[in-house]
Amino acid sequence: MEYEKMLEAYVLTRRFMKQQIDLGSDQLYLSEDLKSSPKPPSNELENFHRKMEDCQECHLHKYRTNLVFGMGNPQAEVMFVGEAPGREEDLQGKPFVGRAGQLLDKILQAIDFKREEVYIGNVLKCRPPENRDPLPDEVEKCEPYLLKQIEIIKPRIICALGRISAQVLLKTKLPLNQLRGKFHDYHGIKFLVTYHPAALLRYPQYKRQTWEDVKLLRKEYDRSFSS
Ligand code: URA
Repeated sequence: MEYEKMLEAYVLTRRFMKQQIDLGSDQLYLSEDLKSSPKPPSNELENFHRKMEDCQECHLHKYRTNLVFGMGNPQAEVMFVGEAPGREEDLQGKPFVGRAGQLLDKILQAIDFKREEVYIGNVLKCRPPENRDPLPDEVEKCEPYLLKQIEIIKPRIICALGRISAQVLLKTKLPLNQLRGKFHDYHGIKFLVTYHPAALLRYPQYKRQTWEDVKLLRKEYDRSFSS
């Protein structure tokens, strides 16, 4: 089995190099990132989850049923970041499992990703009462947890779902329509912004732009992993 995989890798590499030569290249360029070895398996994310799951840094802990840490592949190359858990997420302790989550699943399917392949998290880990927008002091207390998750997972691409996560991470006040549709640089990570699935449930007219955004994401993913 191992031998078969190696043989397949050899054939693909050979084909790629021949293509490059046919195209007139005499040097092979690999980005630093692509040269680095695959991420080693680790339980760092799970250890971090255990360490922070009793968090009482802000008052939201008083109302929660469950803290919603995040879910998916701890070695994901693509990470989606929403705003905060809603009612269903609070009850189940998992992100994006309500109606907005079902739409997110369809969006993922449309660009050929499985939920288990990517990582899904939020800016806030606890549900704000009545699903109101996160308050600045809640973001201040909770954002470091998200940053630590990003540091451990090391995704190549982050997709902010909605205005809140985009503005929090990019440290900007620009509106969503000025942030979406292109990649930003987030500490060396490709960072895309698109509409929140909950917004799409209310305003289906934004689905077309969301489709454009996520196609960009898929293209970038394929580009960085091709050959
Ligand atoms: N909305 C979010 O931003 N996050 C969730 O997990 C669910 C709904």
